[in-house]
Amino acid sequence: RAKDRGGGMHREYEPALHANAEERRQLEHALRHALENDEFTLHYQPVVDTRSEDVVSFEALLRWNSAQHGFVSPGKFIPLAEDTRLIVPIGTWVMQEACREAAQSWPEHVKVNVNVSPEQLLEPDFAATVVRALSHSALDPKRLEIEVTESIFMRDASIARQALEQCMALGCSIALDDFGTGYSSLGYLRKLKFSTIKVDRTFVQGAAQHSPESIAIIRAVVAMAESLDMTTTAEGVENEEEAAMIRGMGCTKIQGFHFGRPMPAEDASALFSRRLENQRRERA
Ligand code: C2E
Ligand code: MG
Ligand code: MG
Ligand code: MG
Repeated sequence: RAKDRGGGMHREYEPALHANAEERRQLEHALRHALENDEFTLHYQPVVDTRSEDVVSFEALLRWNSAQHGFVSPGKFIPLAEDTRLIVPIGTWVMQEACREAAQSWPEHVKVNVNVSPEQLLEPDFAATVVRALSHSALDPKRLEIEVTESIFMRDASIARQALEQCMALGCSIALDDFGTGYSSLGYLRKLKFSTIKVDRTFVQGAAQHSPESIAIIRAVVAMAESLDMTTTAEGVENEEEAAMIRGMGCTKIQGFHFGRPMPAEDASALFSRRLENQRRERA
């Protein structure tokens, strides 16, 4: 590729470039076999109601423990999976597994949030994949919230929108993830009836550092979401100070290390029964 850019032959032999390309090639090879080798698991991070602090959902987050490479972070392998379109079969597995574990591991009023990449939405059978995951798991479609980012509007927006509208017709809800980062356009909010806007962690961090811009933006998003009949989730809340601040700004839901790190389904289920137990004790 260095040659294609007209950078001259020698660029191909730059050690750093070579190492990166080689590393990427090896990672891609491993990723190609990760599904069949059973190397993926899902962890679940609680999403809590700001006022009651009850767990209202768990977000499914993909984890890859590679035989060759050990634990690889999603920040590294998700973009690779998207570039190679491996995200399509991997995403199908995620959808099935998340629906199955949600149906088995936690009570009926607790939802599951599943991240979906643009490449998945452009597949003609995306909605059919969701139907299959729901019927195999017997999960109530109302318990499934699909998370997408603004990047779905960058290309073939109408195909992605149709796929999401089909899911909404099933009873699923859609969340707009990482809001405010990337190529934000408020016009996107008119294109689809999102149920939730997830305010990106960078704004939460900014507000915690008393950035007037971050505070103003969060307030504006909360007000706008309310008038559009959408809820808001603040991402990446790490301590009580940040939680208190977010509470004050009126976000509907909170997610972050302060309330729980991503955890295996068993722990999610245990956490929930522990909370129930505590509530029972408090009432008694
Ligand atoms: P995301 O959907 O925005 O998920 C939230 C990320 O923030 C997760 O990173 C989570 O572990 C992290 N996080 C949560 N609370 C805190 C906090 O208080 N502080 C900090 N510093 N971080 C926090 P993770 O698991 O590494 O995932 C990164 C991204 O990879 C996700 O961002 C999502 O875009 C993507 N991803 C993960 N799983 C899947 C999947 O199954 N399918 C697809 N398509 N993408 C996925
Ligand atoms: Mg997400
Ligand atoms: Mg997010
Ligand atoms: Mg994020």
